[in-house]
Amino acid sequence: RMQRLRGRLARSGSLGKAVLAVLSRGNLSEADWEEIEDTLLSADVGLAATDEIMERLRTEVKVRGDVSPVEAQQILKQELLAAVGTDMDRSLHLDKAEGPAAILVVGVNGTGKTTTVGKLARVLRAQDKTVLLGAADTFRAAATEQLATWGQRVGVDVVSSEREGGDPASVAFDAVKEAKERGIDVVLVDTAGRLQTKATLMDELGKVKRVMEKQGPVDEVLLVLDATTGQNGMRQAEVFGQVVGLTGIVLTKLDGSAKGGIVISVQKELGVPVKFVGLGEGPDDLAPFDPESFVDAIVG
Ligand code: GDP
Repeated sequence: RMQRLRGRLARSGSLGKAVLAVLSRGNLSEADWEEIEDTLLSADVGLAATDEIMERLRTEVKVRGDVSPVEAQQILKQELLAAVGTDMDRSLHLDKAEGPAAILVVGVNGTGKTTTVGKLARVLRAQDKTVLLGAADTFRAAATEQLATWGQRVGVDVVSSEREGGDPASVAFDAVKEAKERGIDVVLVDTAGRLQTKATLMDELGKVKRVMEKQGPVDEVLLVLDATTGQNGMRQAEVFGQVVGLTGIVLTKLDGSAKGGIVISVQKELGVPVKFVGLGEGPDDLAPFDPESFVDAIVG
């Protein structure tokens, strides 16, 4: 896993290399520090976290005097790790006490929601849990079909609407109901992420969550966020947080992004931990987010 994460995050590695190159120059000028700052910002670390990291880097370097390349690496790792956070609870909280554990997956279209639902089903099946999928993205023509394909691929059933444009809340309701009747461990509900109007989305997603809650608590609300869309994607994401309340983030397409710093900024802005990362399009390309291997991958 670690090896794979390293490989897939190769582009994010440019962040570590660039910062280390400057740190090892010794006797850093203001221009050098600005270069480090620019590197962090362009890797989507975000303004607030960049300020914190800069401050701590400056202090460390001041205290130690000039640092060797090895020391520079240690310091950068230490500060990035602190920024990512090692004490957050990143596990899924799945409670079966009142019927199936329920996971609602939300996010803007194209971020990788459906793919993530498929991969998550795979992860849960590998833990010997029984899983049922709900195709509550009834608006995108291909979405239901796409989820059905994922269902076949990972060997789980999918509850969907008879017709395109059906009521997403009724699909979500049916999925939870069927999971309950069949004694399924976890029900995963995929949703639509059209952002034309905030009000429509609010109505629709709010309703999906409420009908699920009629049959028991929704244990996890996971926001799927595309790492390659950066700060822009994050602003859209805030809307979802307001509507349904998030318990975690799945950061997709980290394999194709040089902007690994978004892990840090997204947690800071949305106030919830990154729980999984998407590292490719295949069924096994979802990994629990591990701060240590992530920082190792970035810093080398
Ligand atoms: P949705 O509209 O949010 O449901 O998005 P989809 O699940 O249809 O995914 C959109 C595209 O992103 C598809 O081509 C996926 O294969 C691709 N995708 C999803 N997750 C990842 C990932 O972690 N890495 C890469 N490289 N591609 C991904």
